[in-house]
Amino acid sequence: MSENFCNKCGACCRRIPVDFENKMLFFDGIQELTSEFEQMLIPDTKTNNITFCSCKYLKEGLCTNPNKPAECKNYPSSPFAYIPEGCGYYGLIFSKLEAQKQHIRKLKEEIINYQTLLNSDKTVQRLIDHHQAIIDKYKLYGSENW
Ligand code: SF4
Ligand code: SF4
Repeated sequence: MSENFCNKCGACCRRIPVDFENKMLFFDGIQELTSEFEQMLIPDTKTNNITFCSCKYLKEGLCTNPNKPAECKNYPSSPFAYIPEGCGYYGLIFSKLEAQKQHIRKLKEEIINYQTLLNSDKTVQRLIDHHQAIIDKYKLYGSENW
């Protein structure tokens, strides 16, 4: 990240949500759980299919891994990053998420406008499909309700 708002609390490495069954990691957005990342995890509490894990490289609140995986080097870059309480990036990620939601809402508005023109111009359907594909891309994050 270009801006450094990390207060070194270590919370993001202490409670990492993972769906082991579906190999999904909820860290910098929804990511595939790689075997490299999985071997670092120490499972703790479980709620439904989500297991909260700590990382074996976290010592006294600091990372001791000399070869951090890309997921850690980039965190938190995604508007969908899992931000624990007290994280210094909360405001930045919140505003990124709101910007992403605004974009999706705008596409939905445009679809409604295009639909009114649909009968007179067939190219409009292609525009609608294009917008809908972007909205669907963020379905896992709840874009249908934005
Ligand atoms: S939770 Fe946020 S502030 Fe705390 S160590 Fe992780 S990135 Fe830094
Ligand atoms: S490798 Fe370091 S940065 Fe990555 S989860 Fe573990 S302690 Fe955190």
